[in-house]
Amino acid sequence: MAPVTSERSILFVHAHPDDEVIGTGATMARYAAAGARVTLVTCTLGEEGEIHVPALAGLAAAEADQLGGYRIGELAASCAALGVADHRFLGGAGRYRDSGMMGDPANDAPRCFWRADLDEAAGHLVAVLREVRPQVLVTYDPNGFYGHPDHIQAHRVAMRAAELAGPDAPRKIYWTAVPLSALQAGIENFRGASDNPFAGVERAEDLPFGTPDAEVHAAVAAPEHQEAKLAALRAHATQVPASSWLFSMATNFGAGFLGVEHYRLAAGTPGAGAGPHGWETDLFAGLDT
Ligand SMILES: [Zn+2]
Repeated sequence: MAPVTSERSILFVHAHPDDEVIGTGATMARYAAAGARVTLVTCTLGEEGEIHVPALAGLAAAEADQLGGYRIGELAASCAALGVADHRFLGGAGRYRDSGMMGDPANDAPRCFWRADLDEAAGHLVAVLREVRPQVLVTYDPNGFYGHPDHIQAHRVAMRAAELAGPDAPRKIYWTAVPLSALQAGIENFRGASDNPFAGVERAEDLPFGTPDAEVHAAVAAPEHQEAKLAALRAHATQVPASSWLFSMATNFGAGFLGVEHYRLAAGTPGAGAGPHGWETDLFAGLDT
């Protein structure tokens, strides 16, 4: 049955299990709590990830190669924490393999996502677009936010799918972003901290993933969902150790840091903005939903 057109529907396209949390977890939790249809498509199982749980070290790609299957469970727990019921893997679980970091031999594996046929991969996503009819699509920028091949490919596949979807194309497309001003604030805040994730970095401009504030279009504030975001992070225990700076950041800087997520508008018309930057506060702004 086709959903009623007034239903708010938003689709997130991510590369690996855990990517949904760090950049978009609070946004997902906020829209799910508000009754919107929230769909997550993850493109790979994340088989090439590091393993931060010593007891599970033998699951690694070079050992038993069981990490991908294990991460399906972590992702399910993450989605439960975020209140997101609709989750799929692109083309089905295991269709595309994690490609590893750029230059890694895993880039050459025949099933890896980096080597996927673009239109075939996009075709799997078009089917999801036709089914859930999202007005809003969220994915990465052309550099995949930070240059990981699977993130770059997720961007390409999402953009191609929107192109191929015709009348079922989303009306707005956003790319995840971290404004340079927020990065600079992070650099200042962590200066001197023992677990400083920005160690050796003086200026936000020197990092490979900041977006100039003027190119940011939306800031989704969901501080009430920061706890859900942290629970979702903890669900990815193989990837995010309890000692991660993400947890100390949440403790030290309050919900203003992890509870606010930023986006660039890549397609569609911006709605009304607010605040000193005039950023949208709602990804559905300007849509008649
Ligand atoms: Zn990733």
